[in-house]
Amino acid sequence: MDLRAHLTSPTTRSALLVQQAVLNAVRATLNASGFVEIPAVLVGPVTDPGVRGAKQADVDYYGARYKIMTSAILYKQAALLGFDRIFCIAPNVRLEPSETATTGRHLVEFHQIDVEMADTDRAGAMDMAQKVVRAAAREVVQRLPEELASLNRDSAAFASLLDRAVPVITHAEAVDKLVAHGAHQDPAAEISWAGECLLTDKASGPLFVSDYPVGSRGFYDRESTTCPGVLRNFDLLAPEGFGELASGGEREHDYARIVSRMRETGENPEKYGWYLKLAREGIRPSAGFGIGLERLTRYLTGLDDITRVTAFPKLPGVVEK
Ligand code: AMP
Ligand code: MG
Repeated sequence: MDLRAHLTSPTTRSALLVQQAVLNAVRATLNASGFVEIPAVLVGPVTDPGVRGAKQADVDYYGARYKIMTSAILYKQAALLGFDRIFCIAPNVRLEPSETATTGRHLVEFHQIDVEMADTDRAGAMDMAQKVVRAAAREVVQRLPEELASLNRDSAAFASLLDRAVPVITHAEAVDKLVAHGAHQDPAAEISWAGECLLTDKASGPLFVSDYPVGSRGFYDRESTTCPGVLRNFDLLAPEGFGELASGGEREHDYARIVSRMRETGENPEKYGWYLKLAREGIRPSAGFGIGLERLTRYLTGLDDITRVTAFPKLPGVVEK
């Protein structure tokens, strides 16, 4: 990439101004709702293992192998020992497979708006997720009409998001719809990107998909007690083929269930010393979500290539000096 051309391009500048408006709106909304911002953790002995197909990056930490955070999930749950509602705007590193370099939506280094609320259920997390995304869209539409115009992004694209509650379908309903369309979708797995596009390309606004099957996500998404095999979680999908913006859900907080979910998902509990010590002594029931900052900016700007909304993009498999 020609970095000078990228950083001076009017498109990059407009996209980064949109991103700044997103960050301002997110912080204002969460601060007004009683959240405390916790500075992001960068490295630790373990990190979020539930990162579909991506590898974790190691750092040499005084001779031990620490991980660069792939998400803030473990620390978000821990931080609720001090506060009822927390968020961080955290960098994540995921060594995504090289073939994702051309999807337009994968970076190796990206950021999440990572939010967690104690004593809150999934419905509370879904309400807050749409409130945050709506506030970001409203800020951009109201404050940056000229930037949107220069990006050829019609603010009418956000009418539904700004006016209406985001509709919800379950994963099982989504699978039925996809199969009815003739698409292949494994009912026990994540919805494929093509499937997400099919579900949302005719939608006028974002869509929640809830109740993913237990094998499809990390150990920290809580399994329903009344409907075993189904997770109390959700994704927020953007329309127009922009796809997944956020994932969230209720968290497992029971020590024994955390350990058995770790085992079921192929994780060795012995590696999670500090986290399991807290869990054994008691962590709080909670729900939360993580919104990809660059994914949200991409949707709001209407730019299909995520590198265009990122000042210093790192693409999967691309190693530069
Ligand atoms: P996940 O924990 O995989 O659900 O990721 C949380 C959010 O981060 C997703 O909903 C995306 O918005 C964003 N995200 C995940 N992986 C990437 C990536 N490789 N590049 C950019 N954004 C990502
Ligand atoms: Mg996800």
